[in-house]
Amino acid sequence: MKNSAIIVGAGIVGLSVARALADKGYSVTVVDKSDKAVGASIRNFGMVWPIGQPSGELYQLARKSAEIWKQVCDGIGMWYHQCGSLHVANDEIEWTVINELYDLFNKEGRPVQLLTKESIAKRYPHVNQQGLFGGLYSSDELIVDPRIAVAQVSTYLNELMNVQFLWNFSVTEIGEGYIRSNEQTLRADCVFVCSGHEMETLYPSVFKQSPITKCKLQMMRMQMSVSNSIGTSVCGGLSLLHYGSFKLAPSLPLLRKFAEEHFPQYLQHGIHVMVSQHEKGELTVGDSHEYGNIFDPFDRQDINELIIQYLNRFMKASNWKLNATWHGIYPKMTDGASWFFHSPVNHVYILNGLGGAGMTLSFGLAKKLIDAIE
Ligand SMILES: Cc1cc2nc3c(=O)[nH]c(=O)nc-3n(C[C@H](O)[C@H](O)[C@H](O)COP(=O)(O)OP(=O)(O)OC[C@H]3O[C@@H](n4cnc5c(N)ncnc54)[C@H](O)[C@@H]3O)c2cc1C
Repeated sequence: MKNSAIIVGAGIVGLSVARALADKGYSVTVVDKSDKAVGASIRNFGMVWPIGQPSGELYQLARKSAEIWKQVCDGIGMWYHQCGSLHVANDEIEWTVINELYDLFNKEGRPVQLLTKESIAKRYPHVNQQGLFGGLYSSDELIVDPRIAVAQVSTYLNELMNVQFLWNFSVTEIGEGYIRSNEQTLRADCVFVCSGHEMETLYPSVFKQSPITKCKLQMMRMQMSVSNSIGTSVCGGLSLLHYGSFKLAPSLPLLRKFAEEHFPQYLQHGIHVMVSQHEKGELTVGDSHEYGNIFDPFDRQDINELIIQYLNRFMKASNWKLNATWHGIYPKMTDGASWFFHSPVNHVYILNGLGGAGMTLSFGLAKKLIDAIE
């Protein structure tokens, strides 16, 4: 039997839930308070990033998401690039960790390669060879352009899966079988609340009692003087400290010690540096991580300068021109969980807290959760 569902929030999490429900034959309406999505889902790198997910369920969900991203992109003729990822080592300890990770991932059957300095120079000439030891390449990762991808996924859902969208619909109240704005009440069999970092405006007490906080990230967009392809998404050594999937490397504590000695300001601001490139050649560079409930609306130039300085450690970026800066905010679990899924009343579900992996996990996760509650 077909059922009806309302989704609050047209970011990637809401769209993924909408897709999973429509796929099951539900009649789905997505509402968003803005006239287009402008939250975390358009402010990110566009990295669909299995390499960052620990082995087991999370890695499999990331791979499933990547597969769905490709189906959706192909379905609507949207650009994506399965350019893989490259983590580079600019110090001996980074190289040790990368070798350990290569052994671990290779044993698990992940599609990884250990690249020497020479092969990186050949394949990726925009990587800075000065001080380079080598790198870990993985072919799993995709890039989409977040500035257009989220809008295009909405179009895909509307045109190919008959999902309805109501924009400028600011939800003020939710209960069993309904949502309400100041002007209108909508009814459906179930409601999914995917409101990103504004979660506490609808469910303040749930947010207060849950192991969830917020994170502000500073980002930049750059352009090369002569447009060229960097060939893959590239990360410097500090990223090895960032992702859960790298925690199993035995030498990671030594790398942390090295970073504490050489990059204390970076650790203080939660900076690790990555660069992705989109269809038109622009480069997205970031990021910093500041945790809390309320943030200074003004971005810090000293943080951006630290990011640019570190970028030059591993990319030939001295001629890259800075085109834009911005920040994004996402909710993140504080208890080590990878998402928050909670039902405050019958048939109302909150899905949130995917942290820095919403583009990577949402499609696969939404499918898993909807399969389970059906
Ligand atoms: C700078 C940055 C870089 C990142 N890089 C990556 C990356 O490369 N790869 C990756 O996997 N993840 C990345 N992430 C994480 C990813 O972007 C997030 O996990 C994801 O976008 C969260 O999606 P969401 O749908 O929950 O939130 P959002 O995209 O914020 O969407 C929430 C939506 O809910 C709507 N809404 C809120 N309240 C209401 C209401 N009352 N009524 C109606 N509508 C409402 C908002 O208008 C908004 O459109 C990054 C995040 C940031 C900030």
